[in-house]
Amino acid sequence: MNWFPNYTCMACGCEIQASSNAYLCPTCMNNLPIMTEKQTTHYAPFFYEEPIRTMILKLKYASNGFIAKALSPYLAAVYLQHIAQQFSQAPIIVPVPLHRSRYHERGYNQSAVLATELASYLHLTVISDALVRHKKTTIQKHMDTATRAANIKGAFIANPTQLDHIKKQNILLLDDVYTTGATTHECVTTLRRAGAKQIVILTIASVD
Ligand SMILES: [Zn+2]
Repeated sequence: MNWFPNYTCMACGCEIQASSNAYLCPTCMNNLPIMTEKQTTHYAPFFYEEPIRTMILKLKYASNGFIAKALSPYLAAVYLQHIAQQFSQAPIIVPVPLHRSRYHERGYNQSAVLATELASYLHLTVISDALVRHKKTTIQKHMDTATRAANIKGAFIANPTQLDHIKKQNILLLDDVYTTGATTHECVTTLRRAGAKQIVILTIASVD
């Protein structure tokens, strides 16, 4: 009889030994697409490839909070290695928001959940509603770079009730995936207009 609970790999779903104390099976663990490119405009611990791709999809659509917990140490490592020294003072973490109708559909903003995990890991403050997505944009998956930028333009506003907490602050902008950068750069523009000082983009995965 097996007295141990069964654990499954967060990415491929295969069974893993309870005693291994891991959340990924050895195959997925060995295949993590660790970022190898030198990054300057945005930072990510991983390329957007398997098994990270599946983990992000599960985080997004299955409200899997364990995945945010499992990924936050990797975000923290990139922050400490490449980003922390760029800030003159500790940043506040701002997640890229969903439009409220999409939030109601999912009941969950994956970037906000990641932000909360990372903030507790790094002892930083998170302001989940610093940005508001007031324009409902169409899904961007199949758009080219120029169309994405036009689609997202003017989609965000700085939350009027949070302006005092944004002004002259350094900001770590957090999202799940960096694709063309259209979304995050629109957020950067919005935060800058609201008086934010230094802004650095951090995502779990980046396509390049
Ligand atoms: Zn696996």
